[in-house]
Amino acid sequence: MPELPEVETIRSRLAPRLEGRTMERVEIVDTRLTRPEPPEAIAAELEGERITAVRRRGKYLVFEFESGRHLLVHLRMTGNVEHPAQGGLAADPYRRAVVTLDDGSDVAYRDVRRFGTWALLEPGELENYFAARRLGGEPLERGFTTRALSHALAGRRAPIKAALLDQRAAAGIGNIYADEALWRARIHPLRPAGSLGPDEIARLRKAIRAALEMGIARQGATLRDYRDPDGRRGTMQDEFKVYGRQDEPCPRCGTPIAKTRAGGRGTWYCPQCQQLDPG
Ligand SMILES: [Zn+2]
Repeated sequence: MPELPEVETIRSRLAPRLEGRTMERVEIVDTRLTRPEPPEAIAAELEGERITAVRRRGKYLVFEFESGRHLLVHLRMTGNVEHPAQGGLAADPYRRAVVTLDDGSDVAYRDVRRFGTWALLEPGELENYFAARRLGGEPLERGFTTRALSHALAGRRAPIKAALLDQRAAAGIGNIYADEALWRARIHPLRPAGSLGPDEIARLRKAIRAALEMGIARQGATLRDYRDPDGRRGTMQDEFKVYGRQDEPCPRCGTPIAKTRAGGRGTWYCPQCQQLDPG
């Protein structure tokens, strides 16, 4: 599932190519993509919109239009954006939408599992949309301080892994980067979020940033479906310290990596470096 580094990689590739361009033709063939709005209605609304910026908020791609409207694209499990630098689009049974730009190029949206969503927001609706979903701050921005993280986790009984996944403490972290960050911070994924001490929270903040920055530097992780808009795989999967590495040695201490469940998701950690009851 694309997380902050994967979405940021897509955004950084698309921005220079799409900013300033107008959407001339929009075809949406997936009835689920724009629910509850009918896809033809959203496609018709998008035609003629000029893109002024391609941004990211958490795991959302945010297309900002000159009209003040925004198109929010959430890739969910298997969503993907393609913009081949040269040539047309190859046939693809999983293509759900195509946007033709005024330079003649096509931007295609592909989604195997079809959980992705497109939402068209009217001017002024953006902040309310995110607030209604209790989307936390951006972990790579200045406002993501130890104090802010401490405040977001205070009093929470949920396991820290679950608290990181629910987007309220920080936006954009999913299963991969939560496990990688907790390993870096030497915090057990099942520790109650509100039980972390000040040193642990400071370590966690630094670890979240380091894991996400590594993911961006490696252009994201490709486990199955993720590709950048040119069809290239990321290489973050080669850098995983614990994620998916059950029984392999911890890169720090050599102890075999263990697997458990937290927040309903498979969770990998080092039982030596990340103790549940740090004495
Ligand atoms: Zn270890």
